[in-house]
Amino acid sequence: MKKKITALVLVAAMMAALAGCGGTAAPADASFAADASSVEEASSAEEASEALADGVLTAGTNAAFPPFEYVGDDGKPEGFDIALIRAIGEKLGVEVEVRDMEFDSLVTSIGSKIDVAIAGMTVTEERKAMVTFSDPYYDAVQYVILPAGSSIASIEDLKGKNIGCQLGTTGNYLIEDSIEGAAAQTYNKAIDAVNDLINGKLEAVIIDQNPAEVFVKNHPDEIRLIPGADFGFEAEQYAIAMPKDDAALAEAVNAALAELRSDGSYDALVEQYINSSEN
Ligand code: GLN
Repeated sequence: MKKKITALVLVAAMMAALAGCGGTAAPADASFAADASSVEEASSAEEASEALADGVLTAGTNAAFPPFEYVGDDGKPEGFDIALIRAIGEKLGVEVEVRDMEFDSLVTSIGSKIDVAIAGMTVTEERKAMVTFSDPYYDAVQYVILPAGSSIASIEDLKGKNIGCQLGTTGNYLIEDSIEGAAAQTYNKAIDAVNDLINGKLEAVIIDQNPAEVFVKNHPDEIRLIPGADFGFEAEQYAIAMPKDDAALAEAVNAALAELRSDGSYDALVEQYINSSEN
């Protein structure tokens, strides 16, 4: 990241590679034809991606959000998001370096410590003021985790309760903004909130559906799940967060995403990481 070398050449090569592959990424429009002159025109200086210029895309994540990201057996982050950003890097012809950091510091690190963030991050208006989001790649919703014997069944029942969540997440904001009198107990790792729920220190935990399902599957006798829709929680969408001033990066990432969807790679990753019962 950040080195301003051969940006033009590299982006031109990537656009040519993407346009040449024919998927839905490249509009049928003739101005997008893969001949050298039009590619060069499309890659005028202000359109070159600074993040991609040195051939390394640094992606920040928070590897405590299974099945999207977790620490693998070799101690390195893996999961759906990690595989997805690596596949995007491959399409763009750049190396991908993954950095594990706290979720709460991802957005502010984009453009300095990291080029992009991929972390099951929900598109929100507040975040949009600071970053550019890719096209959404996954639909999500907040779920409520309860002790197995809890009688909580509605949003009314959650009022004034001690509710755990991960710091700086949409679950955190939901507790603060939409549940009257509730106290949001914030954790850097959602699993620590789940452990405190099991230990009786919390009355509920609010977190995204997929990680909630993983946590409950690991503690089936102690905790149970209620879908957020039963509490009126709104649908969310995950997207990759990128610097605000790098339109070429957003264009390249969206083109790569579209190709991964149309060539079946995206579905294969959903199958491998999300639908399989191993995570
Ligand atoms: N989807 C939630 C958010 O964007 C939580 C993401 C996470 O904890 N990794 O705030």
